[in-house]
Amino acid sequence: MKIFSISKDNWSDGLGSLAESYRLFGPVKEAEFHNFKELEKGRTPDLNCLNTRLSPKSIIYPQSEALLEYSLDESREDHHIMREVDTDYSSRAIIGIRPCDAKAFLLVGHNFDTPEYKDPYWIRAYEATTLVGLACDSPCSSCFCTTAGCGPFHEEGLDVLLIDTGDAYLAKVLTDKGEKLLQAAGWNTSTVPEAAAQEIDTMKQEAESKISASVTTDRLKQIDATELYNAPFWEEVSFSCINCGTCTFVCPTCWCFDIQDENRGKSGLRMRNWDSCMYPLFTMHGTGHNPRGTKLHRVRQRFMHKFKYYVDKYDVGIQCVGCGRCVRSCPVNIDIRRVCDLMNNYGSGENTCAA
Ligand code: SF4
Ligand code: SF4
Repeated sequence: MKIFSISKDNWSDGLGSLAESYRLFGPVKEAEFHNFKELEKGRTPDLNCLNTRLSPKSIIYPQSEALLEYSLDESREDHHIMREVDTDYSSRAIIGIRPCDAKAFLLVGHNFDTPEYKDPYWIRAYEATTLVGLACDSPCSSCFCTTAGCGPFHEEGLDVLLIDTGDAYLAKVLTDKGEKLLQAAGWNTSTVPEAAAQEIDTMKQEAESKISASVTTDRLKQIDATELYNAPFWEEVSFSCINCGTCTFVCPTCWCFDIQDENRGKSGLRMRNWDSCMYPLFTMHGTGHNPRGTKLHRVRQRFMHKFKYYVDKYDVGIQCVGCGRCVRSCPVNIDIRRVCDLMNNYGSGENTCAA
């Protein structure tokens, strides 16, 4: 395992060199919130933010994406024939992504890149991206990553992990992609002694000890799906939900989308747009029938998908990395940690519906 030291004095010069071969993305502050944006020339990511309001999922999976184009002009030989839209899949790097958001791409990949089904748009964008993570040393009070299969120094899904030591970043190289990026930035010159690994381990333990929120997930797999579906607590859990969809939009592991054709004159685009299982129209049939016609149905679907259907289908844990965004953003304070515990403990005698 190679670990390099990047002096903060060399940080922006390295980013400048990187910008010659990568499109760079990072957290920047806009109005009162941080979000991931493409960095214009000379702009550095703001690595002092705790976490961004929206996750960086749109860098791989845009909120609105043109997939195919076509012409309705019958004088053209290729009218009504779908063609792939030219999209920029050149190398890009996300600088300062948090470990939870990097792991989230792996969870989403279980759905978008499977042996049976491959989403070429998602896969190309993901493969073009190098993930340079920033370890968290002061996690938010709403974070519960350590019990959601992740952690503040978690490495899964990252190409490089940066650890802020004050005057410098320690850069742990995790993949060949990561090594290539450090080379392109000129940050691969100052290796640090083996003792640095010990220092990182101590910082990791300190960061993990600051996370007090948790979820229990040990019984989710064994509980019968139909019994959980019919559990009495859904009425109470969904009572205050206003189906705004915020929780799904801020979430790095939610992937629902809708496909729509948008015509202008005689030319058209087939678009993929984020959608949300919290919206009534998401499941509305052409007949007018809606199999998830009430908010109870929709709230139950979101949690059953994350903590039961995904768990059963992929056997890789829950579809949540514990970033806490939905906890912070829900306008009516529906707390996923409590719902996860209600589900996990259902039938064990430890359930409570008390707020
Ligand atoms: S953010 Fe809260 S109120 Fe809005 S859809 Fe999600 S659970 Fe419901
Ligand atoms: S469900 Fe909530 S806590 Fe879990 S990954 Fe999504 S936004 Fe983060």
